[in-house]
Amino acid sequence: MNEQRRNVARTFVYEGERYARTTLKGANLLRPLVFGRLHELVGDPDGDRLLMPGVRSYTDADYEVARGWFRRCIDAHPEIEGELSTQLAFCERVLAVVLDQRDIEHLEVERGRGRRLARVFRRGSVTDQVRCKWCGHYTPYVDPGEGFGYLNSNNCERCGWSYPAPHFLWDSLDGLAYSYYRGSMGERGFYDWFEENFRVENKTTWRGG
Ligand SMILES: [Zn+2]
Repeated sequence: MNEQRRNVARTFVYEGERYARTTLKGANLLRPLVFGRLHELVGDPDGDRLLMPGVRSYTDADYEVARGWFRRCIDAHPEIEGELSTQLAFCERVLAVVLDQRDIEHLEVERGRGRRLARVFRRGSVTDQVRCKWCGHYTPYVDPGEGFGYLNSNNCERCGWSYPAPHFLWDSLDGLAYSYYRGSMGERGFYDWFEENFRVENKTTWRGG
């Protein structure tokens, strides 16, 4: 992800107005900002046909299927690559991790229950585990909209990093930038990772302990 580090400012422009990322308005505008740009680049009917299956698979932590759809989307619309780069990189990151004994034990338990493996279903009804987007190992699913990473209430059981479950909007560059500048993540490693991958306007002070 870091061949050509992109500038990530503390502010963003939406419909001609400039906003600070870390305000409530910044959080509320994340969806129209990200999907607005994507739909502008992809257009109809490809927006629904090519883009949305990837978005849904990513949300379901089905990284391999999501990667396939994201690549298909980029093949058809090369200009979209930058808009999907962070989510695609999370897919690559997870899929490169070899499952360990603990993961395999989890999968065996799931298989024993006769349930579909490691699939997240609808928000709010999830009891399963998902592969953490940071370390690639299985961890209990916690809705990315719940809890606080810096208070250790939404963290991976394996690596401890914040917000392990994938979320298409929060894992976009704008979503990550919000988390970076707001200091939402509890581990220093996130801030180092972000600064290695993106050129930040000024560094956020890590507030974790
Ligand atoms: Zn993890």
